[in-house]
Amino acid sequence: MIEGDTRAQNRFRELLDAAPDAIIEANSEGRIVLVNEIAQRLFGYSREEFLGLSIDALVPAAGRGQHAQRRDAFAQKASTRPMGSGVELRAQRKDGSVFPVEISLSPIHSEEGFHVIATVRDVTARRLAEERFQEMQDRFTRELEEKNRQLQQRNAEVERSDRLKSEFLASMSHELRSPLHTIIGFAELLIEELEGPLNEKQKRFVSNIHQDSHHLLALINDLLDISKIEAGRMEFHLEKFALGPALDEVMDMIRPQAEGKGLRLTAEMDEGIFVEADRLRLRQILTNLLSNAVKFTPAGGTVAVSVMARRHKVAISVVDSGVGIARDDHEAIFDKFYQVGSTTKGVREGTGLGLAITKRLVEQQGGRIWVCSEPGQGSTFVFTVKTGDTHRGLTRPLVLIIEDEPRAAELLVNYLTPEGFTALCAESAEQAATIAAELSPEAIVVDLSTPTSQEWRMIRDLRSQSRLEAIPIVIVSVTEECDAARALGVEAHLTKPVGKRQLLDTLAQAVRTQTDRRPVLVVDDEPMARELLAAILREAGHTTAMAASGEEALSLMEQATPSVVILDLMLPGMSGFDVLSRIRERAEWSEVPVVVLTGLELNRGDAERLKQTTVAILRKGQSWKQPLLGALRKTVRPS
Ligand code: ADP
Repeated sequence: MIEGDTRAQNRFRELLDAAPDAIIEANSEGRIVLVNEIAQRLFGYSREEFLGLSIDALVPAAGRGQHAQRRDAFAQKASTRPMGSGVELRAQRKDGSVFPVEISLSPIHSEEGFHVIATVRDVTARRLAEERFQEMQDRFTRELEEKNRQLQQRNAEVERSDRLKSEFLASMSHELRSPLHTIIGFAELLIEELEGPLNEKQKRFVSNIHQDSHHLLALINDLLDISKIEAGRMEFHLEKFALGPALDEVMDMIRPQAEGKGLRLTAEMDEGIFVEADRLRLRQILTNLLSNAVKFTPAGGTVAVSVMARRHKVAISVVDSGVGIARDDHEAIFDKFYQVGSTTKGVREGTGLGLAITKRLVEQQGGRIWVCSEPGQGSTFVFTVKTGDTHRGLTRPLVLIIEDEPRAAELLVNYLTPEGFTALCAESAEQAATIAAELSPEAIVVDLSTPTSQEWRMIRDLRSQSRLEAIPIVIVSVTEECDAARALGVEAHLTKPVGKRQLLDTLAQAVRTQTDRRPVLVVDDEPMARELLAAILREAGHTTAMAASGEEALSLMEQATPSVVILDLMLPGMSGFDVLSRIRERAEWSEVPVVVLTGLELNRGDAERLKQTTVAILRKGQSWKQPLLGALRKTVRPS
């Protein structure tokens, strides 16, 4: 028996001594009754010195006074818990030195009464590490702040010197232009031989002077432009004008150059497209792109301009069948003084400023510009400009094709265009995002052989761009339909090879569901009239929303923007005219097409005013059904 007791006691002692922390047991008076090996080492007392010592002796002098009170409080509400949580605890060694600790307390009730077991851990090393870490963090923060300050200062200096440089260039260019004009003028006089004949050699010399002076003048003009833009001093006089005649002028100017090289120059655009831009600057953009296209397309090739009107923007494409541009250069060609050099195959390049200026001119008028090209496959430059006619209906749905293989893209475009779609290609995710934001296509086709995770991410990003939520996405790939596509809410996933019919049907379906999602809002106080319109619209495949008054119409529009509003003018309370002006006041509704359908006799003034803000004015009592459906087809449904 006794032997067993001794063995148990030894085992208990070994256990205590093996513990990694100091363990100290004190009785209800706070006298120490048990300690382990670590406690002795940590505090510097021997076991004998410990036994009977008040636990208060281990508390540094500063807190010792209140310790007895704290012990009593613990005895009142005894539970196992860390001591003094949230405060940094300290303990005192026999030699008086103080060190940081963590203590947890456990009450025990035994036959000897209420005891407390304290487990004490020395956290000196940890605190030191924490302090070091804090110090490092502070130092880094200070250094970072200093670096930021320096950077800001440097930025300010760069901006200042950029501005100074631009101002210098601007004044220099002015100074250079006047003598050049004189040189060119005199050279021309000499060429005309008005002052007497020149021999062949002299003619050649003068002609060289003339040519190079022109080149120099072009360079100076470009420099002046770029420095004006960069100094923020280029002024834009925005006006709304018909694009057709402006484009014709530029085409006429370029034609001799193109024909001289044996190129076919064509332009294709719908009637009556208006833009809002600076007329001169738009000409400059078109001239730049077209003369580049002509310059970099070898004899026998084609240069084609096409124009696409969308709700907010008009997109103008300049497509050539020329030397093309390598992918790596697509961004750099828009930089100042960048010229591809090697791929332009001996074509004399200009100043390297043309595209840099063009890009800035486009962007400063609220548009974007991008290029799709491969060496040897021609180039397509597309830029956008604000539309000058926001109420114009969209005639053909636009499909954005994301495809980095130009031949495959071309095939898809050839499928789509004869079927009444228009198509634009994007060769990268960024480009697709730009195009989608600029032109809100009716559908996006993503052609991927086997989508990588990066490409899935791109599709997800496209999906999540708020404006694009409603745009259906069709994926064409060699993989079977998969969960990733479904999870992203992709409208359709086609597995290659995809036939023409299958793609067209899928797109037609996707476009229809998309355009039909927004209802046609009918505002009419007569129940019979509403019912009749509802039936007609539903039959034509539209969803509808009905309002019996102007107030109701506006509150419905708050909930969901309709695709079109069909508005009666005679309404109880708020009149149709009031509803119309309220709709036009709100930015997000300003472009919702409105069709007026009324029994009201309109005087000429009213009719004129209405014409400016509505897409059609139809009279009840006359034949209005076909014109109404026609107007709807033009504005919301693809033809
Ligand atoms: P440049 O005055 O040299 O034409 P740009 O800024 O207009 O300067 O064009 C920069 C470079 O981009 C050109 O030098 C050429 O290498 C390339 N580039 C521009 N347009 C085309 C195009 N249509 N086809 C091929 N390369 C082009």
